[in-house]
Amino acid sequence: MTKIGLEIHCQLTNLESKLFCSCKANYREFEINENICPICMGLPGSLPRLNQEAVKKATIIAMALNCTTPDKIAFFRKNYFYPDLPKNFQITQLNIYGDSSIGGVGSIMVGDKKIRITRIQLEEDPGRLIYEGSSSKNLITLVDYNRAGTPLVEIVTEPDFENPKQVREFLNILSDLLENLGVSDPSLEGAMRADANVSIEGGKKVEIKNIGSFHDLEKATIFEITRQESLHSRDIEIIQETRHWDDKRKITVSSRSKEEDLDYRYFLEGDIPWIRIDPEIQKELKSKMPESISSKKERYILQFNIPAQVASVLSSDKFYSDLFEISHTESNAKEIANIITTDLMGLVDTREKREDSKITAIHLKDLTDSIQSGKISRNSAKNALYEIVKTGKDLSQVISELDLGNVSDESELLEIIQKVISEESQAVEEAKSNPQTINYLVGKIMQKTKGKADPKLTLDLLKKQIG
Ligand SMILES: [Zn+2]
Repeated sequence: MTKIGLEIHCQLTNLESKLFCSCKANYREFEINENICPICMGLPGSLPRLNQEAVKKATIIAMALNCTTPDKIAFFRKNYFYPDLPKNFQITQLNIYGDSSIGGVGSIMVGDKKIRITRIQLEEDPGRLIYEGSSSKNLITLVDYNRAGTPLVEIVTEPDFENPKQVREFLNILSDLLENLGVSDPSLEGAMRADANVSIEGGKKVEIKNIGSFHDLEKATIFEITRQESLHSRDIEIIQETRHWDDKRKITVSSRSKEEDLDYRYFLEGDIPWIRIDPEIQKELKSKMPESISSKKERYILQFNIPAQVASVLSSDKFYSDLFEISHTESNAKEIANIITTDLMGLVDTREKREDSKITAIHLKDLTDSIQSGKISRNSAKNALYEIVKTGKDLSQVISELDLGNVSDESELLEIIQKVISEESQAVEEAKSNPQTINYLVGKIMQKTKGKADPKLTLDLLKKQIG
C-alpha cells in the first residue's frame, strides 16, 4: 500500500510586510537585493518584530482546515547553513513544548477521504538562489535576498494519501480554499511549494524536496512510487533518504541522508516572547471568516436554481464568484452565472488576462438586462463581451459601434420575413401542419439578420404571416 504525506509551503501573498520587519511582502516587484533591511539580513543588534496580520491570516487558515488554535504560540530557531539564509537560522514553529504552533490537529475532506492535518506553522521564507551559466563548469550561483523573511505558512499532513490522484485533488481544493480566504494568490510563481514523503508496502519513508509547483508534485510522487516499486520487485532495500526533484529531467535524485529534527538544534527564539492569542480575537476572526466554497455552492443552487456543475465551477474561483456576487440580482443570477462560466471563463483564462481584463460587475448586469429585454441576442452578447473585456467600453457604446442591437423594428423585420416566406414556399406549407418547421423558418430569418432578429417578435410576426 502506498502512503504519501505532504508539507505544503504557502506564501501569505496578500500581506503588506514581511514576517519580522517592515520590508514589503511583495518582493516580486523589486530589483535584486533592494527589498532588504538589517532585520531580514540578520545584522548584529537587529531584533525581529512579529507581523500581527500574519498571525491573523495564518489563524484563519488553521480555522478553515478545522485545526485547533492554541491560545499561546512560540517561535523556534531552526539552525542550518545555506547561502539563501542570511541569519544561518530560520525562525519557524514546532510543537516541542506542547501545542505552540499556529494550528494544531485538523482535517479536510477530499471527496469521501478524510485527510488529517498534523499542524500548521508560521515561518519565514529564505532568499532565492539564481543559477547562471551555460554549463556546470561555468555555473555561477547568485543570491537574491528580497524574499528572505516573507511570511510563509507550512501545512503538514499525515501520510493519508493513497495515490497521486488524491494528492492532486487535495491541492486543487487547498489552493481554491486559500484564495477564497483572501490570504494568498496561488497563481503567483513560487507562492505554493511542497515537499512530499512517499513509502510503499510499509517500507522506509523517502522525502522529496524542492517541488516548485503542484503540477510537478503529482509527477514527482508518480515517479517516486514507480522507482520504489521497481526496487521492491527486485528485492533491493529502499533506504530512508531525502531526494531532490529535478524539474528539468523530471526525476528524483538522492541528495543526502535524511536529517532528524535534532540535527537542526532547534531552540526557542529568545528575541520573540511567547505570544498569547486573545480568545476574543480568535472569536472575531472566526465570525469574519469568508463564506466557504461549499456553502457558496449550496446557496447558488438553492437560492438561484443554478445547475450544480455551474455552481461548483463558479463558487470555487474567487475572481469569478466575487464578480458574480456584486453583479447579480434575484432575477438575473442564473443568466450571469451562465455568461461567466460559459463565455467569460474562456475569454479570461490566465492570470495575465485577468489582470488585463476591463470587465466590471456593471457590464455583466447591463449585458443580462439587455438579453432579458430582447435588446441583444445571446450570440451578440458574446461578441460584446469580447469587446468589453478588451476595451472596458460601456455596453451601449459597444452595441452601437459593432451594430450588435437586435432588429426589433417591425417593418424592417416584416420585410425580411416576407422574403424568407417567398423563398421557402414548401417549408411554409409544411409549417401549417408541423410546428417544428417554424423553427426552421426562424433559423432562416436569423441567418439573414446575422442572429440579430428579436426572437420573440420574429416568432409572433412569422406566425401571423403564415396564418
Ligand atoms: Zn527587512
